[in-house]
Amino acid sequence: MAGFYRANIDYLTQHAISADKRRYVDSTEARRHFLNADQYGKDPFKRIPHNWYDAAAKYTADTLDKYGTVPWTIQYNYYRLVRAFKEHDTTAILNTSANLGHYIADAHVPLHLTQNYNGQLTNQTGIHALWESRLPELFGDHYHYYAGKARYIQNPLTEAFKICRSSFARVDTVLRFERLLDRSFPADKKYAMVRRGQKEVKDYSAGYAEAYQKMLKGMVQRRMRESILSVGSYWYSA
Ligand SMILES: [Zn+2]
Repeated sequence: MAGFYRANIDYLTQHAISADKRRYVDSTEARRHFLNADQYGKDPFKRIPHNWYDAAAKYTADTLDKYGTVPWTIQYNYYRLVRAFKEHDTTAILNTSANLGHYIADAHVPLHLTQNYNGQLTNQTGIHALWESRLPELFGDHYHYYAGKARYIQNPLTEAFKICRSSFARVDTVLRFERLLDRSFPADKKYAMVRRGQKEVKDYSAGYAEAYQKMLKGMVQRRMRESILSVGSYWYSA
Protein backbone atom coordinates (compact mmCIF):
# COMPACT_ATOMS: atom_id res chain seq x y z
CA MET A 1 0.00 0.00 0.00
CA ALA A 2 2.78 2.42 0.94
CA GLY A 3 4.38 1.76 -2.46
CA PHE A 4 1.14 2.48 -4.30
CA TYR A 5 0.51 5.71 -2.41
CA ARG A 6 4.12 6.84 -2.73
CA ALA A 7 4.10 6.20 -6.49
CA ASN A 8 1.08 8.51 -6.75
CA ILE A 9 2.15 11.15 -4.27
CA ASP A 10 2.12 13.97 -6.85
CA TYR A 11 -1.42 13.19 -7.92
CA LEU A 12 -2.56 12.96 -4.29
CA THR A 13 -0.84 16.19 -3.37
CA GLN A 14 -2.40 17.96 -6.30
CA HIS A 15 -5.89 16.68 -5.47
CA ALA A 16 -5.59 17.20 -1.72
CA ILE A 17 -7.12 20.65 -2.24
CA SER A 18 -9.68 19.68 -4.90
CA ALA A 19 -12.41 19.60 -2.25
CA ASP A 20 -11.76 23.27 -1.45
CA LYS A 21 -11.84 24.22 -5.14
CA ARG A 22 -15.21 22.47 -5.57
CA ARG A 23 -16.77 24.97 -3.18
CA TYR A 24 -16.67 27.57 -5.95
CA VAL A 25 -18.72 25.47 -8.35
CA ASP A 26 -20.89 23.40 -6.00
CA SER A 27 -22.95 25.21 -3.37
CA THR A 28 -23.41 21.96 -1.38
CA GLU A 29 -19.66 21.48 -0.95
CA ALA A 30 -18.83 24.04 1.77
CA ARG A 31 -20.82 22.29 4.51
CA ARG A 32 -18.74 19.13 4.13
CA HIS A 33 -15.65 20.85 5.55
CA PHE A 34 -16.84 21.83 9.02
CA LEU A 35 -19.13 21.20 11.96
CA ASN A 36 -20.25 24.22 13.96
CA ALA A 37 -20.49 22.20 17.13
CA ASP A 38 -21.20 25.23 19.32
CA GLN A 39 -24.52 25.72 17.52
CA TYR A 40 -25.78 22.63 19.37
CA GLY A 41 -25.46 24.16 22.83
CA LYS A 42 -23.28 23.15 25.73
CA ASP A 43 -21.60 19.74 25.48
CA PRO A 44 -22.57 19.29 21.83
CA PHE A 45 -20.84 15.92 21.57
CA LYS A 46 -23.14 14.50 24.18
CA ARG A 47 -26.14 15.77 22.24
CA ILE A 48 -25.51 15.12 18.58
CA PRO A 49 -26.46 11.53 17.64
CA HIS A 50 -23.73 9.97 15.49
CA ASN A 51 -26.06 8.26 13.09
CA TRP A 52 -27.13 10.73 10.40
CA TYR A 53 -30.79 9.66 10.44
CA ASP A 54 -31.00 9.89 14.22
CA ALA A 55 -29.35 13.32 14.13
CA ALA A 56 -31.67 14.44 11.33
CA ALA A 57 -34.69 13.21 13.28
CA LYS A 58 -33.55 15.26 16.26
CA TYR A 59 -32.47 18.47 14.48
CA THR A 60 -33.76 18.15 10.86
CA ALA A 61 -31.46 17.50 7.90
CA ASP A 62 -31.57 21.20 6.98
CA THR A 63 -30.08 22.14 10.34
CA LEU A 64 -27.35 19.52 10.01
CA ASP A 65 -26.52 20.83 6.54
CA LYS A 66 -26.46 24.40 7.77
CA TYR A 67 -24.10 23.73 10.69
CA GLY A 68 -21.77 21.48 8.71
CA THR A 69 -21.47 17.79 8.02
CA VAL A 70 -17.79 16.91 8.22
CA PRO A 71 -18.08 13.75 10.40
CA TRP A 72 -20.70 12.24 8.11
CA THR A 73 -18.74 13.32 5.06
CA ILE A 74 -15.74 11.41 6.38
CA GLN A 75 -17.92 8.34 6.91
CA TYR A 76 -19.43 8.63 3.42
CA ASN A 77 -16.08 9.00 1.70
CA TYR A 78 -14.61 6.17 3.72
CA TYR A 79 -17.19 3.75 2.34
CA ARG A 80 -16.65 5.16 -1.12
CA LEU A 81 -12.98 4.32 -0.75
CA VAL A 82 -13.83 0.79 0.42
CA ARG A 83 -15.92 0.39 -2.73
CA ALA A 84 -13.16 1.78 -4.96
CA PHE A 85 -10.73 -0.78 -3.51
CA LYS A 86 -13.23 -3.62 -4.06
CA GLU A 87 -13.64 -2.57 -7.66
CA HIS A 88 -9.88 -2.17 -8.19
CA ASP A 89 -10.65 1.26 -9.63
CA THR A 90 -7.30 3.05 -9.38
CA THR A 91 -8.57 6.49 -10.35
CA ALA A 92 -11.43 6.30 -7.86
CA ILE A 93 -9.06 5.06 -5.14
CA LEU A 94 -6.78 8.05 -5.64
CA ASN A 95 -9.53 10.64 -5.97
CA THR A 96 -11.45 9.35 -2.98
CA SER A 97 -8.26 9.03 -0.91
CA ALA A 98 -7.45 12.67 -1.65
CA ASN A 99 -10.97 13.85 -0.79
CA LEU A 100 -11.22 11.73 2.35
CA GLY A 101 -7.80 12.99 3.44
CA HIS A 102 -8.93 16.58 2.95
CA TYR A 103 -12.04 16.21 5.11
CA ILE A 104 -10.15 14.34 7.84
CA ALA A 105 -7.47 17.04 7.90
CA ASP A 106 -10.10 19.80 8.03
CA ALA A 107 -11.71 18.07 11.01
CA HIS A 108 -8.38 18.33 12.84
CA VAL A 109 -8.44 22.13 12.63
CA PRO A 110 -10.13 23.53 15.76
CA LEU A 111 -11.57 26.51 13.87
CA HIS A 112 -13.53 24.11 11.64
CA LEU A 113 -15.60 23.23 14.71
CA THR A 114 -17.02 26.64 15.58
CA GLN A 115 -19.36 29.22 14.13
CA ASN A 116 -16.64 31.74 15.04
CA TYR A 117 -14.43 30.04 12.47
CA ASN A 118 -12.51 33.16 11.46
CA GLY A 119 -12.73 35.04 14.74
CA GLN A 120 -15.30 37.27 13.04
CA LEU A 121 -17.56 37.26 16.12
CA THR A 122 -14.84 38.34 18.53
CA ASN A 123 -12.95 40.93 16.51
CA GLN A 124 -10.21 38.44 15.55
CA THR A 125 -10.90 38.22 11.84
CA GLY A 126 -8.08 36.48 10.01
CA ILE A 127 -7.22 33.97 12.73
CA HIS A 128 -8.30 31.03 10.54
CA ALA A 129 -5.47 31.54 8.04
CA LEU A 130 -3.07 32.51 10.81
CA TRP A 131 -3.52 29.13 12.50
CA GLU A 132 -3.79 26.85 9.50
CA SER A 133 -1.64 28.64 6.88
CA ARG A 134 0.65 31.33 8.25
CA LEU A 135 2.07 29.25 11.13
CA PRO A 136 2.83 26.10 9.10
CA GLU A 137 4.18 28.20 6.22
CA LEU A 138 6.60 29.94 8.55
CA PHE A 139 7.51 27.10 10.90
CA GLY A 140 6.37 23.88 9.23
CA ASP A 141 9.85 23.01 7.99
CA HIS A 142 10.87 22.46 11.60
CA TYR A 143 7.86 20.39 12.62
CA HIS A 144 8.27 16.67 13.22
CA TYR A 145 5.87 14.72 11.07
CA TYR A 146 6.68 11.15 11.98
CA ALA A 147 3.29 9.89 13.08
CA GLY A 148 3.91 6.18 13.60
CA LYS A 149 2.14 3.22 12.05
CA ALA A 150 -1.40 3.31 10.73
CA ARG A 151 -3.94 1.54 12.91
CA TYR A 152 -7.16 -0.21 12.05
CA ILE A 153 -10.25 1.93 12.57
CA GLN A 154 -13.18 -0.16 13.77
CA ASN A 155 -15.85 2.44 13.30
CA PRO A 156 -15.15 5.29 10.86
CA LEU A 157 -18.07 7.40 12.11
CA THR A 158 -17.20 7.06 15.80
CA GLU A 159 -13.62 7.93 14.92
CA ALA A 160 -14.73 10.99 12.92
CA PHE A 161 -16.69 12.28 15.91
CA LYS A 162 -13.69 11.64 18.15
CA ILE A 163 -11.53 13.81 15.88
CA CYS A 164 -14.16 16.56 15.88
CA ARG A 165 -14.52 16.42 19.65
CA SER A 166 -10.78 16.76 20.23
CA SER A 167 -10.59 19.70 17.79
CA PHE A 168 -13.55 21.36 19.46
CA ALA A 169 -11.85 21.05 22.85
CA ARG A 170 -9.07 23.32 21.49
CA VAL A 171 -11.27 26.08 20.06
CA ASP A 172 -11.22 28.08 23.27
CA THR A 173 -7.40 28.02 23.51
CA VAL A 174 -6.94 28.96 19.84
CA LEU A 175 -9.13 32.05 20.20
CA ARG A 176 -8.20 33.05 23.76
CA PHE A 177 -4.44 32.99 23.19
CA GLU A 178 -4.71 35.19 20.13
CA ARG A 179 -6.90 37.62 22.07
CA LEU A 180 -4.31 37.74 24.86
CA LEU A 181 -1.47 38.20 22.41
CA ASP A 182 -3.29 40.99 20.62
CA ARG A 183 -3.53 42.86 23.93
CA SER A 184 0.16 42.55 24.77
CA PHE A 185 1.76 42.83 21.32
CA PRO A 186 2.74 46.27 19.92
CA ALA A 187 -0.18 47.18 17.63
CA ASP A 188 2.06 48.70 14.94
CA LYS A 189 4.01 45.42 14.69
CA LYS A 190 1.05 43.06 14.45
CA TYR A 191 0.79 43.20 10.65
CA ALA A 192 3.36 43.46 7.89
CA MET A 193 3.49 43.42 4.12
CA VAL A 194 4.24 39.86 3.10
CA ARG A 195 5.25 38.54 -0.29
CA ARG A 196 2.74 36.09 -1.87
CA GLY A 197 3.86 35.02 -5.33
CA GLN A 198 4.18 38.27 -7.26
CA LYS A 199 2.13 40.32 -4.84
CA GLU A 200 2.73 42.07 -1.54
CA VAL A 201 -0.20 41.60 0.83
CA LYS A 202 -0.94 42.61 4.38
CA ASP A 203 -0.68 39.66 6.77
CA TYR A 204 0.25 38.92 10.38
CA SER A 205 3.92 39.77 10.89
CA ALA A 206 6.47 37.01 11.41
CA GLY A 207 7.04 38.28 14.95
CA TYR A 208 3.35 38.09 15.79
CA ALA A 209 3.06 34.64 14.25
CA GLU A 210 6.07 33.45 16.19
CA ALA A 211 4.69 34.73 19.48
CA TYR A 212 1.38 32.99 18.78
CA GLN A 213 3.14 29.79 17.82
CA LYS A 214 5.03 29.86 21.14
CA MET A 215 1.85 30.34 23.14
CA LEU A 216 0.25 27.38 21.40
CA LYS A 217 3.16 25.16 22.50
CA GLY A 218 3.27 23.03 19.37
CA MET A 219 -0.50 22.64 18.93
CA VAL A 220 -0.42 23.11 15.15
CA GLN A 221 2.38 20.58 14.78
CA ARG A 222 0.52 18.06 16.96
CA ARG A 223 -2.74 18.49 15.08
CA MET A 224 -0.91 18.01 11.78
CA ARG A 225 0.76 14.87 13.07
CA GLU A 226 -2.51 13.48 14.38
CA SER A 227 -4.07 14.34 11.06
CA ILE A 228 -1.36 12.45 9.17
CA LEU A 229 -1.82 9.37 11.34
CA SER A 230 -5.56 9.60 10.97
CA VAL A 231 -5.52 9.95 7.16
CA GLY A 232 -3.13 7.00 6.87
CA SER A 233 -5.25 4.93 9.23
CA TYR A 234 -8.47 5.58 7.28
CA TRP A 235 -6.78 4.66 4.00
CA TYR A 236 -5.30 1.55 5.56
CA SER A 237 -8.61 0.49 7.12
CA ALA A 238 -10.48 1.00 3.85
ZN1 LIG B 1 -11.53 22.29 3.35
